Order: sequence, then structure tokens, then C-alpha cells
Amino acid sequence: MNENKIINDQNISISFFKKEVKKFVEERNWNKYHTPKNLVQAINCEAGELSQLLLFKDYTIEEILNNETLLTNIADEIADVFVYVISILNILGLDLSQSFMNKMEKNKKKYSNKEFNNGTYYKK
Ligand SMILES: [Mg+2]
Repeated sequence: MNENKIINDQNISISFFKKEVKKFVEERNWNKYHTPKNLVQAINCEAGELSQLLLFKDYTIEEILNNETLLTNIADEIADVFVYVISILNILGLDLSQSFMNKMEKNKKKYSNKEFNNGTYYKK
């Protein structure tokens, strides 16, 4: 059975991705390239590729959803960013779930519901 068909966001954990990326990197002997600097730059490069797909275009969400090729390309670039995020988590021994929860707590304090309930991103 093709593993890709049964794995989805509802039934997988971050540790699965960490193991997959670690194995992929080790099998290719790429550990020497996976330094913090290189991985941060790789994340930026992949984010740039994602950005390029939408550069100078003002697609609506519906237009993207109705363009299978564009949607696939966007998904691929998001996955590329994610792979490098997972790799930097691996080499620095970070727990994404803990980082996420800690940062969301900070975000909730920084952007309180009381001050940011009118649709603005900035304090006036
Ligand atoms: Mg890419």
C-alpha cells in the first residue's frame, strides 16, 4: 500500500516527519550540509519559491483552488519549507509542539483580543 495515501494531518505526528527527514538526510550523507545557517537559508529559498508562484498575481483563494497545477506547486513549496523546518528542529533538538504553544501564548499576549478585535494588524 502506498504510504502517502493513508497519511494525513489527522493521523500523523511531528515525530513521524522528524524521523522521515532524518532518515532521508542520513541516507544521502547530507548531515554535513545541514548546519543552522544553511537550513535557515534553505527555508528562505523555499519560501521564496513559494512567493514566486504568486508574484505579481492577485489570485483569489477560489482561483487557486480551481487551478490544480498552481495548487500542486504551492503545496510542493510549502512541503519544501516544512522539510527544512523539520531538519532544523532535528539538528537543534527542538520540540515544535512546545515551541508552537509557547509562541502562541506570547502572540495571545502581544495581540490581545481586547486590542485586536477590529480586524487590524497594528495598534493605533
Ligand atoms: Mg522548492
